[in-house]
Amino acid sequence: MSLRVLILGGTTEALALARALSGDTRFVACMSLAGRTRTPVLSALPTRIGGFGGADGLARFMREGRYDVLVDATHPFATRISGNAMLASHMAGVPLLGLRRPAWTQGPGDQWITVPDMAAAAQALGTVRQTVLLTIGRQDLHPFRAAPWHDYVVRSVDAPPPDLLPMARIITARGPFTLADERALLRDLGMTILVTKNSGGHDAKLAAARELGITVVMVARPVAPHPDDAPMTLVADAAGALAWLQAHAQGASRRGV
Ligand code: NAP
Repeated sequence: MSLRVLILGGTTEALALARALSGDTRFVACMSLAGRTRTPVLSALPTRIGGFGGADGLARFMREGRYDVLVDATHPFATRISGNAMLASHMAGVPLLGLRRPAWTQGPGDQWITVPDMAAAAQALGTVRQTVLLTIGRQDLHPFRAAPWHDYVVRSVDAPPPDLLPMARIITARGPFTLADERALLRDLGMTILVTKNSGGHDAKLAAARELGITVVMVARPVAPHPDDAPMTLVADAAGALAWLQAHAQGASRRGV
């Protein structure tokens, strides 16, 4: 019997895991996306799009779909769905794996100001006018309205609603970006500060900022929901997730389920 796997996605790691699972008859996997981007990158796996209606809805979805395991491969800043995944895994009795890319850490030459949230990031820009590249998606722009004297450029996959940060210039683009792309963007637009979330993973903008001596305002990861009573294995990449899934598939076939 194949192991039935539900993946909560929206990340490159989820796509990498989907590539590893598709065509492997030991697994029947489904990808779940929130539906935030207009043209999401789809994997070869069957995909469902949209919220479940909270932890209850996710637990019901897993029971009805007879899923054996749940993989939370969502973005480190997507804390609501991760909290729901923990609760739902407990409610439905479905083992949960967390797939989380490691956070970035400051290295030699990096000029980072680490802040706890987006409001603090806006404050960290200071009172002197800066040219600021915001690579934080389009949902978290509101706090920067409190510092309207800066010159903002927003880079996001889809354009934000025009009234969210009306003074900003918008660049719509989807990564991954090369070091040459990032260097050109930062230099040609005369950026003096880059604001980013500590998403982790492969990313050239930090190297470009380091090279050009540009300050990075780094928004730290929110504290991951990880209640002690909800045991969860964490892995850092798709290979680690595949190994965990293989062990579960073997266990299930030994038990004849
Ligand atoms: P969030 O605040 O943690 O979740 C809000 C709600 O969206 C959840 O309660 C859930 O609705 C629904 N949802 C989120 N991810 C889902 C998924 N994979 N499948 C089905 N429903 C999902 O999430 P967010 O920060 O808005 O991020 C949304 C998605 O974008 C995530 O899947 C994440 O992986 C991806 N993403 C987020 C960021 C970021 O910076 N936050 C960056 C890149 C990609 P219900 O309660 O109704 O089930």
